[in-house]
Amino acid sequence: MSEPVTPVEVRAPEGARRLEIDWSDGVTTAYRHAILRGFCPCAHCQGHHGPVAWVEGADELNLELASIEEVGTYALQFGWGDGHATGIYTFRFLRALAEIGESESAFVRGRSFMR
Ligand SMILES: [Zn+2]
Repeated sequence: MSEPVTPVEVRAPEGARRLEIDWSDGVTTAYRHAILRGFCPCAHCQGHHGPVAWVEGADELNLELASIEEVGTYALQFGWGDGHATGIYTFRFLRALAEIGESESAFVRGRSFMR
């Protein structure tokens, strides 16, 4: 059984536009803030069941990342400038989301991920 992969460092190198995560296995992933907001896995954005899909119009919402909190040893919780902070992004979900991390919104329609 291998060690679970966890974030070593989380950076926001371009202010309110982009997030980078260095992981314990040496991988670095990057995400546009619109992608993180658009795939917010919380029940309000996604409902209670099923995979996480792109929320249409998310790139028009407040994309200022106001807070980043660790949740136990398995997830990060992002808070946005408009107060929305219920999304708990598991490490596994963040690694899967990195596949499309900096893509344009038009590209991500129809994609979905297990939370
Ligand atoms: Zn949400």
